Amino acid sequence: MADQLALDEVVTFTSDLIRMDTTNRGGGDCQERPAAEYAAARLAEAGLEPVMLERTPGRTNVVARLEGTDPSADALLVHGHLDVVPAEPADWSVHPFSGEIRDGVVWGRGAVDMKNMDAMILSVVRSWAREGVRPRRDVVIAFTADEEDSAADGAGFLADRHPHLFEGCTEGVSESGAYTFHDGQGRQFYPIGAGERGTGWMRLTARGRAGHGSKVNRENAVTRLAAALTRIGEHEWPLRLTPTVRAALTEIAAAYGIETDLSDVDALLEKLGGAAKLVEATVRNSSNPTMLDAGYKVNVIPGEAVAHVDGRFLPDTEEEFRATMDRLTGPDVDWTFSHHEIALQAPVDSPTFARMREAVQAFAPEAHTVPYCMSGGTDAKQFARLGITGYGFAPLKLPEGFDYQALFHGVDERVPVEALQFGVQVLDRFLRSA
Ligand SMILES: [Zn+2]
Repeated sequence: MADQLALDEVVTFTSDLIRMDTTNRGGGDCQERPAAEYAAARLAEAGLEPVMLERTPGRTNVVARLEGTDPSADALLVHGHLDVVPAEPADWSVHPFSGEIRDGVVWGRGAVDMKNMDAMILSVVRSWAREGVRPRRDVVIAFTADEEDSAADGAGFLADRHPHLFEGCTEGVSESGAYTFHDGQGRQFYPIGAGERGTGWMRLTARGRAGHGSKVNRENAVTRLAAALTRIGEHEWPLRLTPTVRAALTEIAAAYGIETDLSDVDALLEKLGGAAKLVEATVRNSSNPTMLDAGYKVNVIPGEAVAHVDGRFLPDTEEEFRATMDRLTGPDVDWTFSHHEIALQAPVDSPTFARMREAVQAFAPEAHTVPYCMSGGTDAKQFARLGITGYGFAPLKLPEGFDYQALFHGVDERVPVEALQFGVQVLDRFLRSA
């Protein structure tokens, strides 16, 4: 068990890290260094030897290795990002970078994504140092920059330029899993991440014949683009059940005592009620038009029109995704990926998955732990290049009314002190057993 000091420190660390404004506005506009120095100092106090790495000044990453007792065992990576998405103070009940603790709740940007997990990792490692605990496997700890943008200054840079720091790592754990999901009917789930959809952000360009807005024009770039976007936005992607999503559907259905009929998934999702949210975005690929740019004057038909589409594809469906986009865009519209990240698939029958489940269940025996596939992506995609299988495991016990999905990147992001302390206990138990 983690000691009382660990339970106190996780609160202090979360609050302190929130106060360091590491807003990532994209395009390189972010400074993670103060948070990285803070994390490195806390690790050094526990006897670790953290290294700080930067591709760009101020965009600091921290990596440290805790040696395990069994040198023949594979190493485990535990990682958390230090940057956060922007927050507009005027929209918030408290200042988003105050780290204020009010009525047992820590407020601020990063409270659930993911300075909470960073603080939990630090607290657990420090409690181990006090107790003389050593894990069986080597545990590599990484705090990264730039997760909320391209990861080019963060996990991408570490994987490309410093792979030796991750030698022996076969599995990794990080954000977006093992939080309490309330179905609204009294049941609690802890979804553990075992896969991610791939990211396919696309730029579409329609070309046509420029001309006067009053003339007949059958080659209007704006019309062509609009038609393609309508086809893309309204496209009904076919069901594609990956092993993780099948397991998720089966286990969630079992929690309700419903027989799993995967031949009619839409009917099954309806029966699952609130819990359908855990799977509905990952039974298909998706494509949502999000940005438009064309023309400069109302009576001038432009020769070109541009749009952006947010596409996401499941593991093993990328070829189909590309072919579908070729068909939906048609002959008059070109498309390319402006940003592309692979999809991930992790086994749900691995010993590591079983240990994550066991650790959650030890502290939340009334809940159902289930696998799930993330609809978006994390740093795990970058570390996958090093052969590291990524799981989403950042345990948090949230009371009813705390909608994790809504707090994630949302206004009034906050986390109960008790949720953090639960996280420390579960993470400690899992890492000791891993
Ligand atoms: Zn995150």
